[in-house]
Amino acid sequence: MGVIWNDPETGEGDFTRTSSYTEGWLQRGAREQGCSYCHEPIRFPCLYWMADKDIFLHPECLAPLATRLFRDLHEYDCAARIEGGRPMRQAAGGNSAGR
Ligand SMILES: [Zn+2]
Repeated sequence: MGVIWNDPETGEGDFTRTSSYTEGWLQRGAREQGCSYCHEPIRFPCLYWMADKDIFLHPECLAPLATRLFRDLHEYDCAARIEGGRPMRQAAGGNSAGR
């Protein structure tokens, strides 16, 4: 997980900041794949997460994605309570603080 600040091949991005990813291969992957949320071409700087499939995001796409992830978690949590199951937060970490 991190920020890819610049693209050394195209000159796009913020070259005043140090990027851990300066080899170019990750930037090529970002350009080929696009944003994992809005599917528009990626711009630099972008956010990067390593998973089964590389995830690239525009910084402005993170908040809507996170909002939808938490909305889905809340929906699951409510359904699990109604159906008598264990809420996700208990299942994942066993910490019920703040509930
Ligand atoms: Zn996007």
